[in-house]
Amino acid sequence: MTKGNGEDPKPGSRMERIQQGVRKRTLLAKKKVQSITKDDVKSYLMRNAFVLFTVVAVILGVILGFSLRSYKMSYREVKYFSFPGELLMRMLQMLVLPLIVSSLVTGIAALDSKASGKMGVRAVVYYMSTTIIAVLIGIIIVVIIHPGKGTKENMHREGKIVQVTAADAFLDLIRYAPLGILFLIAGKIVEMEDMGVIGGQLAMYTVTVIIGLLIHAVIVLPLLYFVITRKNPWVFIGGLIQALVTALGTSSSSATLPVTFKCLEEINGVDKRVTRFVLPVGATINMDGTALYEALAAIFIAQVNNFDLNFGQIITISITATAASIGAAGIPQAGLVTMVIVLTSVGLPTDDITLIIAVDWFLDRLRTTTNVLGDSIGAGIVEHLSRHELKNRDAEMGNSVIEENEMKKPYQLISQENENEKPVDSETKM
Ligand code: ASP
Repeated sequence: MTKGNGEDPKPGSRMERIQQGVRKRTLLAKKKVQSITKDDVKSYLMRNAFVLFTVVAVILGVILGFSLRSYKMSYREVKYFSFPGELLMRMLQMLVLPLIVSSLVTGIAALDSKASGKMGVRAVVYYMSTTIIAVLIGIIIVVIIHPGKGTKENMHREGKIVQVTAADAFLDLIRYAPLGILFLIAGKIVEMEDMGVIGGQLAMYTVTVIIGLLIHAVIVLPLLYFVITRKNPWVFIGGLIQALVTALGTSSSSATLPVTFKCLEEINGVDKRVTRFVLPVGATINMDGTALYEALAAIFIAQVNNFDLNFGQIITISITATAASIGAAGIPQAGLVTMVIVLTSVGLPTDDITLIIAVDWFLDRLRTTTNVLGDSIGAGIVEHLSRHELKNRDAEMGNSVIEENEMKKPYQLISQENENEKPVDSETKM
């Protein structure tokens, strides 16, 4: 008896051979799994070291920021503390203008006028439709949740101007150097006003904005990508993590642009002719997060003022929020400034922007991340829609390369061919 009673099978029996086979296979599989896992982990870490480092920096920044809050640093100390973060910001900003100009020039030069025209139309249609969807989500969410119940009297207002000193000028001297997101985030958390002010309506407002942005970023944009390209949006978004985290850290889609280029071209393999053409424009005019935020914030301010908006005013808010998002620069809190346009268009008090400043530094990071995601998904969609033109262009370029090569064929070879042909020619001529 060998089955089920724990006894060893007879040596050389069929059962023993089967068991040996199973043991061998298990051992082999184990070895394989072990080696794959090691290699995988190693190469994964190597490939994603920078992304992981950026994510860890954000987490450390949050922890450091919250642990340093109890020290009650002075405004100036906070400024010194967040200095390395500011350096990173300046460095990224320094790259933006040359990057936008050169990439647009090379992007357009690599396409013929017909292809660039078509690609431009596709990009603009994508920008406009996603921005309008974002505005609608903002309006619907704020009307449903209604975070602005009650009055604004018990809400905190914020805003201050601090004198510039000689030390600022000194720091200006060494603002060329590259340093981290960690200090950007930690500095902002240390600097944050008393958390107590973010209670009640403002907390509800923050949650409403987060829900709106999440719906757009996690449902609408990936769905659009999937419906148009039939590819897995999460694989595409996975390749963008570093750009998204940089957007979260810098609150600036323009400053994130160098990283967005890198993620799209190097990780997601999006055609450079598309990224160079579509991304710089997108980072400047396509801001879904900002559009959603502006519409939502304007209606929130109307709610805290007990100001009933009619349908016409809501349409006005949609149009002006779209325009304000196009007009906003890709820099920190630009959306807050262009919100004045939205508020004045329906006669809401512009002073009330001070009611939401306390949470804007945080919400700005989230809307910037949404903006960068929108631009990147746009590049993926435009590439997919323009694939035929890109292929045709490739074929044309290929032909011209072949022609060029033909012309460069070694002289002897051509003359040899001619030699071979000559007698025939002469014969026929004769
Ligand atoms: N900070 C945003 C961006 O750079 C603009 C905004 O303030 O909404 O995309």
